[in-house]
Amino acid sequence: GREWHLAGRPHGWPTPADFALVETPVPEPGPGQIVVRNLYLSVDPYMRGRMNDVKSYMPPFAIGKPMDGGAVGRVVASQSADVAVGTHVLHGLGWREYAVLDAAKAAVVDPEQAPLSAYLGVLGMTGMTAYAGLLRIAELAPGETVFVSGAAGAVGSQAGQIAKLKGAARVIGSAGSDEKCALLVEDYGFDAAFNYKKAPVADQLADAAPDGIDVYFDNVGGDHLEAAISAMRLNGRAALCGSIAAYNDVEPPPGPRNLGLLVGRRLMLRGFMVGDHHDMQGDFVREVGGWLRDGKLHYRETVTTGIDQAVAAFLGMLRGENTGKAVVALPE
Ligand code: NDP
Repeated sequence: GREWHLAGRPHGWPTPADFALVETPVPEPGPGQIVVRNLYLSVDPYMRGRMNDVKSYMPPFAIGKPMDGGAVGRVVASQSADVAVGTHVLHGLGWREYAVLDAAKAAVVDPEQAPLSAYLGVLGMTGMTAYAGLLRIAELAPGETVFVSGAAGAVGSQAGQIAKLKGAARVIGSAGSDEKCALLVEDYGFDAAFNYKKAPVADQLADAAPDGIDVYFDNVGGDHLEAAISAMRLNGRAALCGSIAAYNDVEPPPGPRNLGLLVGRRLMLRGFMVGDHHDMQGDFVREVGGWLRDGKLHYRETVTTGIDQAVAAFLGMLRGENTGKAVVALPE
């Protein structure tokens, strides 16, 4: 099988030379272990941070070792009484064709309930991020006005739709192309959308939300966060989910320059990690599963095929070439 190793630490934007596709023998399972033929690999923004040698909530990828990340596949060998050959599982050893791991570290998934790739996206980590961030962290209330950045991506597209389904009065999204903005309004039910590449975010947000916003779901940081703070009404809240605008920056970005507004307007900005909210998993699957079945929640995936294309898929996602969850398919 083949697996992607980190060959060097990127400085700024990663280049193909920072990665190496390495051939390795298909592993044998030890006692209690399974071998999984991965069928879908997740490529996610947080992986860029793990390519830096800095202490964070997850350890950095090691040079010359396989990278890891979310993956879904089929069990092809098992020394576990709990997980039989043929079972489909979700686990954390992506970026490779074959994974060997303790069966206890894999979650069984049902391909009859949803397409396998959905367990990496709409019914998986990114979906849960949208659900927990909007409902628990930002504490969205019916009748409020919501602004979502990165709104055509995996997390953002789901956050905006959940806001509408939970009774938001008005949902505004920003994204990096006119096509993505059209999708937000025409398919996902956003009330307004703007292309942040065309004019300053602050001006476009003021046009789309003349009476201000109550909730900001931040996937981008930088100019988006600054504009959102200025647009916030009294008692506004922001769920700080990510700041992708800066992930390839070499220096930390300046600003926001208007943090002083937090005081007078009684604003709350709160960072969060999806991994702290596993207790919401039951509600998440029940509610999002129901919306999917009823056709009330729509989603896109950008599927790139072939292990050799995994780095290109990751870099394309960082550049915005994806709409919805970016995954890599490894057909058998
Ligand atoms: P997406 O599917 O949204 O893909 C990334 C998108 O970011 C691209 O499609 C691109 O869309 C956009 N983007 C790239 N550069 C910029 C930029 N300079 N300014 C604005 N937008 C940019 O990824 P995810 O849905 O997986 O992740 C979205 C955010 O959520 C990220 O910040 C991520 O780190 C965060 N996250 C946080 C978690 C947590 O627990 N806190 C868990 C999961 C994700 P466009 O064409 O619009 O530019």
